[in-house]
Amino acid sequence: MLTCDFCGTTASDEAGAALTWSMGVEHGRVRRFCPRCSREHVRGMEGKLDSDAW
Ligand SMILES: [Zn+2]
Repeated sequence: MLTCDFCGTTASDEAGAALTWSMGVEHGRVRRFCPRCSREHVRGMEGKLDSDAW
């Protein structure tokens, strides 16, 4: 099961979610974001900002 590190939503279909969810490594920890958060925060992600700063 995937859990969004921003909004906390979950996806039971891990294989399907892997296609649409975003993944990144911050401070040595893997972070995953659902498609909705990925879209809303795409600018921050492109700017390589930590999600803590969103
Ligand atoms: Zn989310």
